[in-house]
Amino acid sequence: MAAPTVTRPFSQLDVAPTAARILGLNLPQSDGRPINLVEGWGCRNVALIIIDSLGYDLFGWLMPRLENLSTLARDGLLLRAEAVSSHTTPAIATILSGLLPEHHGIFNKAGAKESSILSIPEIASASGLRTAVVMEQNGAEVYRGLIEIIAGIPDDLCPEDFDREACRMTLEALSSSPRLLVSYFIGIDKTVHAGQGLEKIGEAALHIDQCMGRIACAADEETLFIICGDHPVHAGKFKRSKGPYSVALILAKGRAQKKGCHGLR
Ligand SMILES: [Zn+2]
Repeated sequence: MAAPTVTRPFSQLDVAPTAARILGLNLPQSDGRPINLVEGWGCRNVALIIIDSLGYDLFGWLMPRLENLSTLARDGLLLRAEAVSSHTTPAIATILSGLLPEHHGIFNKAGAKESSILSIPEIASASGLRTAVVMEQNGAEVYRGLIEIIAGIPDDLCPEDFDREACRMTLEALSSSPRLLVSYFIGIDKTVHAGQGLEKIGEAALHIDQCMGRIACAADEETLFIICGDHPVHAGKFKRSKGPYSVALILAKGRAQKKGCHGLR
């Protein structure tokens, strides 16, 4: 079944302003704007899930086999969002700050540590909102001492183990009812960089999808899920050699009250 697709131009820049609006926070500066389509959904918490390499074209191909992400997109919204960079670190910094790469200036992991730019987890925590970040070790360490819950995943795990850990830690973080959760899944990207073909990419995506089902069932309707790719895939059939470069952006509510969640939690 085709999910509703809205064609108005959206961007990764809109993620942080949208999260801020739901959480009642003020972003000091932003190059994006809140996505007002979620107003009236009754959400007060945000679970921001970044899926590395979830380009819009790749997601379109994967969708028929990804039951949980398809359900979230069908019941919520699937948007084509402009990608600000083809690299992970600047793209994630944009997703978390709402700033263009030339404004946040974060282009590598060292830059993330040194940056004085405030990202949405820090702003939320400083405003008294319980905040959790589940990320690869270096990314998570950036938040040490700044937010309540930090879960670092060893970067040397194989794709499947990394995402299994990300899933376990995300479920654990959700059990403490954070107002903002940020979580990161890398399996698709690692599979691509290992030179694996579409079949293996599909397996990695399916693994993430199964986890998304569990995570969505662990949060109630007051939680807005923002599920977003960081950049289009770097190799293979769905690599783009020219713009527009876009990623999948799914907005959906938690599903804890839904029938299909029985036995999943
Ligand atoms: Zn990436």
